[in-house]
Amino acid sequence: MHFYVITLFPEAFDSYLNESIIGRAIKEKRIKVTFVNPRMFVSGKKYKRVWPDGNVSRIVDDRPFGGGPGMIIRAEPVLKAVESIAKKIAKKENRKTKIIHFSPSGTKFTTSYAKATVKKYTDVVMLCGRYEGIDARVAKILKAEDVSIGDYVLTGGELPAMVLIDSMARQIPGVLGTFDSLEEERVSSSEFYTRPEVLEWKKKKYAVPPVLLSGDHKKIEAWKMEHNKKEP
Ligand code: SAM
Repeated sequence: MHFYVITLFPEAFDSYLNESIIGRAIKEKRIKVTFVNPRMFVSGKKYKRVWPDGNVSRIVDDRPFGGGPGMIIRAEPVLKAVESIAKKIAKKENRKTKIIHFSPSGTKFTTSYAKATVKKYTDVVMLCGRYEGIDARVAKILKAEDVSIGDYVLTGGELPAMVLIDSMARQIPGVLGTFDSLEEERVSSSEFYTRPEVLEWKKKKYAVPPVLLSGDHKKIEAWKMEHNKKEP
């Protein structure tokens, strides 16, 4: 699975994607993440300014038609960024691409969504909004699906992109240790305990539920199912 992230802030991903299971999946080439910054596709005198000291300002946003406080990411740099990716994908064989545009009002992202996407697609392009968002024509032109990670508004699509990469990556064979590691593929509870059997904290004792120490696997599975608060 190749993830392409269209973002104005690619550095925001550095530490998360380099750590632990996701970092290993990238090193082992089970997944690939490529960042494309729309700023690099800014053109025209109005938006791209070269200063006497050689510095270049690339302005990706502009004021909203109809008024409003927030700036809008312009369509052109985003479309050109996606076009540059599409050209690379077109050179490969047997690819199937999905384009996702992050929006707080989009389709709710779930584990089932992650599973279905991993099964069906080889390349996932993710458009991360910032400010008020990306010009609405981009999602229409690209036939991108609006996807939300929850009923709250974040400052940008970078956290949603990390959530999707993490959740989809763990569905790819070999990314987690064994298939059994996937919570959805086994009986798992939302409550778990490790040593010691009795924890002493501020003069109080907290014991592990006895059933987990019983060695009776049927009873343990029943207890885990009872204590599973996760939604499917
Ligand atoms: N005014 C926009 C709206 O109501 O749709 C919200 C803009 S938000 C400040 C900036 C960007 O963050 C959005 O364009 C989107 O890409 C991303 N974003 C914010 N909350 C999100 C959520 N819950 N799920 C997915 N993306 C989100």
